[in-house]
Amino acid sequence: MNEDYPKTILELEQWFATDEACRDYLVRLRWPDGFACPRCDGREAWNASRGRFVCRTCRHQSSVTAGTIFQDTRKPLTLWFRAIWLITSQKNGASAASVQQILGLKSYQTAWTWLHKIRRAMVRPNREKLRGVVETDETFVGGEDPKDGTWIEQKSLVVIAAEEDGSGIGRIRMATVPAATRKHLHRFVQETTEVGSVIHTDGWRAYEGLEPLGYIHRRTVLLGQKDKNAASRLLPRVHRVASLLKRWLLGTHQGAVSTEHLDYYLDEFTFRFNRRASRSRGKLFFRLLQQAVQVEPTTYRSMVGRNSNA
Ligand SMILES: [Zn+2]
Repeated sequence: MNEDYPKTILELEQWFATDEACRDYLVRLRWPDGFACPRCDGREAWNASRGRFVCRTCRHQSSVTAGTIFQDTRKPLTLWFRAIWLITSQKNGASAASVQQILGLKSYQTAWTWLHKIRRAMVRPNREKLRGVVETDETFVGGEDPKDGTWIEQKSLVVIAAEEDGSGIGRIRMATVPAATRKHLHRFVQETTEVGSVIHTDGWRAYEGLEPLGYIHRRTVLLGQKDKNAASRLLPRVHRVASLLKRWLLGTHQGAVSTEHLDYYLDEFTFRFNRRASRSRGKLFFRLLQQAVQVEPTTYRSMVGRNSNA
């Protein structure tokens, strides 16, 4: 499929005025080379109504939204597309409260659930790992912030990896970890960074032992007394990313982020950060929809845990 996407809100309104138009767009994103039956991989189908397809070979009935974040939604796709536009077209995204208000959704919970489903589409399956020289360090997010008052109830430990790109930053990855132990930090490095890369850390001992795993380990150790700003001079990229992340959580989301869902916010931040040089915001909209039709559906229940009655 050509990378065809709306470039302005006016184009968005014109292109996606009806659910049928939204569905046609999803069909082209999901099956760029034509329909493929999810059961038998048959290539021919009858078009049934509402974006459903009946396979000519095995008669299996599927729809363009089955198995995606849009599965079983009772709301119009036109609204979903606008929600996705809101969070991709704005530099800092959008909070659930603002999506609810702008789209006129009755319930905050719907807006909140949508944003979480959309965040799940922000991580492309089998995305490429970081490589080259990669600064890696941990930071605390949340808890009491002396400058800003209390926000995000609990403190969470977040590991951040940032590619060095000259004096600038390349791509990033981040994730919460239960503790800054060797086991968790090594696993983070292995999941985020290609073997053969240089892992640049401070002197924290839990990073020792990366060489046998195939990495080159560069440690920059601080000698003499601890000074508060020294860490940000040693690993400036990670610390720049950490401060942008905290500002975003506090600004856009006003700290209304619970610890158990923090990883999804990290995914959203990463999605946007790694595409910050993209010339068109519409391209982010396109990418997100493209990934959205490849993602397993998630229900509100599975997001908040089985015991919730919400
Ligand atoms: Zn089939």
